[in-house]
Amino acid sequence: ALTTDTLTIWMNNFANKVEENKQHLSDLDTPIGDGDHGFNMDRGMKAVEQKLATKPADLTTGFKTIAMALISTVGGASGPLYGTAFLEMAKKSTSTEDIGELLDAALAGIQMRGGAKPGDKTMVDVWSTLVPDVKAGNLTEDKIKESVEATKDMVAKKGRASYLGERSKGHIDPGSESSSYLFKAMLETEG
Ligand code: ADP
Ligand code: MG
Ligand code: MG
Repeated sequence: ALTTDTLTIWMNNFANKVEENKQHLSDLDTPIGDGDHGFNMDRGMKAVEQKLATKPADLTTGFKTIAMALISTVGGASGPLYGTAFLEMAKKSTSTEDIGELLDAALAGIQMRGGAKPGDKTMVDVWSTLVPDVKAGNLTEDKIKESVEATKDMVAKKGRASYLGERSKGHIDPGSESSSYLFKAMLETEG
């Protein structure tokens, strides 16, 4: 079960991965978007790290703090979506500390907010593939990698990349790549 301490370790790890890969994330966003995804996420996760430097009173407060930091600093399409994910985890955390159930609520929030379905070449592809693995307790690095790779040949139906239609094919979805860091960081925190 998640605690405020493991949540903070998880988020700091996620922030480090985003920072190390911010140029890469923005490069993925260049051919099918506007080239800012890594910079957006890095700005947001730096704000999250700063907020979590003060230990949150409980898990719900921690999730809420993360959500607010992301909503107010990331911007773009991804800011409200990641923000919603953490707001939904905040709500869910009043009744459970199970990571699988929390992530399930987050995914439902992302889908409700953005209207994307699996196959639309968005972060929903990675989340909807990996959340069941988390719940089954068999998430692996390979599965995380595969879920991101799977977005490459999809045609984007939501977000900026959808303006390109068929030409969005052949490019990995940047939001799926950043989401993969969230899952990788979680795996490392647990293990
Ligand atoms: P923007 O496109 O506004 O510049 P970002 O570049 O930060 O925002 O984020 C782009 C990412 O957001 C995409 O790669 C995709 O994964 C995700 N995204 C965009 N629209 C949606 C949506 N409707 N539902 C889920 N994810 C989305
Ligand atoms: Mg962008
Ligand atoms: Mg943008």
